[in-house]
This record gives sequence, C-alpha cells and structure tokens, in this order.
Amino acid sequence: MTDDQTTAAYGNTWYAATKVDASPRPALAFDLDVEVCIIGGGLAGLTTAREIAGRGWSVVLLEAGRLAGSASGRNTGFVLPGFGADADKLVERVGFERAKSLWALAQAGLDYVREMASSAPGIDPQNGWLYVSKTDNSDDFVNYVALLGELGCEIEGWSTERVRSVLRSERYFYAINYLRAFTIHPLNYALALAAAAERDGARIFEDTPALSIDPSGVRKRIVTPGGRLRADHVVLCGNVALNGLMPRVAGTLLPVTTYVITTAPLGERLAQAVGYAGGISDSDHADNHYRVVGGDRLMLSGRATTWPRDPRRYVKALTGDIKVTYPQLGDVAVDYAWAGTLGLTIHRMPQIGELGPGVWLASGFGGHGLNTTAMAGNIIARAIVDGDLTWRQFTPFELVWAGGVFGRAAMQVRGFIKRLKSATAERRAKAREAARRRALTPAHEAETAEHAAPCHQEAADSAAAPGDSEQAGA
Ligand SMILES: Cc1cc2nc3c(=O)[nH]c(=O)nc-3n(C[C@H](O)[C@H](O)[C@H](O)COP(=O)(O)OP(=O)(O)OC[C@H]3O[C@@H](n4cnc5c(N)ncnc54)[C@H](O)[C@@H]3O)c2cc1C
Repeated sequence: MTDDQTTAAYGNTWYAATKVDASPRPALAFDLDVEVCIIGGGLAGLTTAREIAGRGWSVVLLEAGRLAGSASGRNTGFVLPGFGADADKLVERVGFERAKSLWALAQAGLDYVREMASSAPGIDPQNGWLYVSKTDNSDDFVNYVALLGELGCEIEGWSTERVRSVLRSERYFYAINYLRAFTIHPLNYALALAAAAERDGARIFEDTPALSIDPSGVRKRIVTPGGRLRADHVVLCGNVALNGLMPRVAGTLLPVTTYVITTAPLGERLAQAVGYAGGISDSDHADNHYRVVGGDRLMLSGRATTWPRDPRRYVKALTGDIKVTYPQLGDVAVDYAWAGTLGLTIHRMPQIGELGPGVWLASGFGGHGLNTTAMAGNIIARAIVDGDLTWRQFTPFELVWAGGVFGRAAMQVRGFIKRLKSATAERRAKAREAARRRALTPAHEAETAEHAAPCHQEAADSAAAPGDSEQAGA
C-alpha cells in the first residue's frame, strides 16, 4: 500500500505510520461453503477466526473495509484487567462470586494478548497502567483498591508523593498501579492475529461487506457484493457498523467517538515530565488517557462525542489538556490526529452469546476492548467447536436498546455534567492542598505561593471550558 492508501484505510494515525508490512487481502469474488463465517475484521473477529481455525474448522472472515481499520486499529492500546463496567457495579449486579469469575475470564483475555504481544513483531508491550486521582478524597479510593484486590487484580496503591515523583504534575494525588496491565501497538497486534489465523487455514477477505444474512435453516446464507457463503455458524463481530446488516442488534450500542493525538518528538523534556512507561489515565471518563510512544512522543486521547467530528477540531483542546497537566512541556506540535468510534452497551459489559441457533454475537466492548475481545474470541470458539457453555456467564447482560438519538443526547449531557463535577472536585482538592501548604509555610513564602496559585486555577478552568457541550463519558 502507498502512504496515501494506508492513511485512507487507517486515518492519520501514529499506528499506521509505524505498522508492520502486511499485504491487503483480496475481496471475495466467488461462492464458498464453510463451517464458520465471521463478520467483522476487528480484534473480536480476528481472535475468533484464529481460535476456530486453530481448532481445525473451516473459517472465513469478511471485513467491509481494512482489517482493524476501525476501533481496533485506532485505540490507545491499554490492555487492562476487568471490564468497562465498574467493579463495584458489577458486584452489585451479579454478586461477588459471579463477578470474580467474570474477572478471571477477563484476566485470561489479558494474558492471551500478552502472549501474542511477546511473540510477534512491532507490538511493543510496555508494562503498567497508572490510574491517577485528581482529588485528595482517599476514602473511595481505598475501598475500590480493596475490592480490586478481592477480585484477584494485582495492584498497588501509590501515595501522592510517589505519583508526583514519577509524573511531574501538581494536578495529581493518589494512584492505583495495575501491575499486570500493559500497553501495545494495537494495529500490529491485529495484523499478527490475522497472520496467525491464516497460518491455521482461515481465509480472510477485505473490502467485502456482508450485505445480508438469512439466519434461518441449518446452513446460514450470507450475501456479499462478489460472492455468497453458506455456513453452519455466523459470528457477528461488526461493532457499531452492524447497523446496515442487523439494525436491531446495532441499536443496542451507543456509538462514542474519541479523538487521539500523537505529538511530534519532544526529546528529553518528555522524559523529565512523564517517567512512567505504561498507560496513564487521570479520569474515569473519556479524557486524558495517555502514554509515551516512539521514545519521546506523547499519545493522548479524550474529548469524546456521541456524533463523530473531524479530529482536527480537537487538536487544540487536546494539546490544551497536555498543557494543563504538564505546563513545563510548553507548546507541543502534533504530528498525528485521528478519531475512532467504540460501541457502548447500557450496562457497560460486552455482548457475548448465541442470538439464535448458529448465530453468535461478540460485540459491545466499549472502551475496554483489548482484553475483552481476546476473551470473547476464545469463549465463542470454545462454544462453537466444543459446545462449551462459558458464554452463559454473560446472559445477565442482555441486549438492551441504547435509546437511539435520545440515548446519544442523554450521554452527551451526562458527560458534560460529569466533567463539570470532576473539575469542581479537582478545584476543591487544589484549594485544600494550597490551604495545607499555607498552614505549614512561613508567612513570606506563603505570599509567593499565593501569587503562583491562580495560574493553576486558570489552567483547571480552561480544561473544563472549550467545547465542553460536546463531551461524553465513555
Ligand atoms: C479512540 C479509542 C480508544 C480506545 N482505547 C482503548 C484502550 O486503550 N484499551 C481498550 O481496551 N480498549 C480501547 N478502545 C476500545 C477498543 O478499541 C474496542 O472495544 C475494540 O477494538 C472493539 O473491537 P471490535 O472487533 O468489536 O470492533 P471494531 O474494531 O469496530 O471492528 C468491527 C469491524 O467490523 C467490520 N464490519 C462491520 N459491519 C460489517 C459487515 N456488514 N460486513 C463486513 N464487515 C463489517 C467493520 O468494518 C470493522 O472493521 C478504544 C476505542 C477507541 C475508539
């Protein structure tokens, strides 16, 4: 592919610029009979294809565009334990034992990605995920850490001093360090999955949208522009793009578009500011997930919207976010800016299971899809080939209509309110910290500190202001 074709397929992403060589796959141009047809060549479809082919079954994967050209090749690359649903809400919903068992499945998904990441080129795993608090309220934090530990998650709590010795930002207080989490190059990971599936005999077709499915009968019929398929099983892995094919299933997902930038090389000043190799998040919604890539570039995502926009519109806001957190970096230039759309379920848990005889769904992974797509692909492969019933653990998370345009509008407003609340909490925490400092500082030094404080206040205000009516929590 030429550089222009790569950008057209994957967007102006740092991942496309650093992807491993991979030839495009042909479009389907003939009829086929197979045991399993997978629709969608993101991480869910590719893992399922690899796992079913690896068990010796005949598999075809159809991808409407390019493999991992959607969310799977455009995400921030954080491979995390658990699910998009908060651990405490999950326990409330299904009870502690079931939640623990679900977390163990999600952990197996994470381990699967790690194994692949260390055995294929260009995936570049970097250990750790630091989830940082911008407020000084440690009670909720301590309770949450305890619950994560009980669920089997390996974590350590970091004090404010420890956080600030690694991330040189006055915005930050406590953090949870997730020891087994890591980051990857998700596009290279997806391409490695595709290559592994093909080695085991899977056939993959790009530029091949499934136009219709007839799911009745033992053999399902799938129509594409260039050929027809008949398959014993169909696995729907189309995420938010399934609306043309299965509008009612697609209607259970809220599409949320998030914007990502990667700066120009920042040299030594980046290492001085961010001394953590893995992923860093300082918010429980879609803002400020960042990491160092390519040695001295900063990749940062945020500013989610429920209607997709041109990513160039968000460059200023995202670089503004960097400046608020790390003013010492000064103005940063941006080399790459792109958007990606994820599909959120109402309950924030993935949709995994059999919709009808021989029709399977693996979707709704939200912003937490790297470990959970790996988990889902394995669960569905075992279900189809071995009759394994693990997928039934996901039956409490039924398909719930996401509310169409009303759902999107409600989500947008909710995101706006969440951001306002967290900006207020952050301001209060900073005010308390300033008061504590004043109490400990001799009078002439306190005066100097007071002069410095409004700068930070202004910066925190500007973080909440530009384009906020467009924010949504993911
Ligand atoms: C900006 C961003 C940042 C994110 N960051 C993270 C992160 O750091 N960590 C994390 O765990 N998760 C993250 N996520 C979420 C994660 O990327 C997704 O949950 C995951 O990639 C979903 O994979 P998927 O295979 O279900 O869907 P997709 O990657 O969307 O793939 C679905 C594919 O199906 C194809 N398709 C649809 N309909 C048809 C059809 N009719 N015929 C043929 N093909 C079809 C589409 O073309 C598409 O390629 C992020 C997402 C975004 C957008």
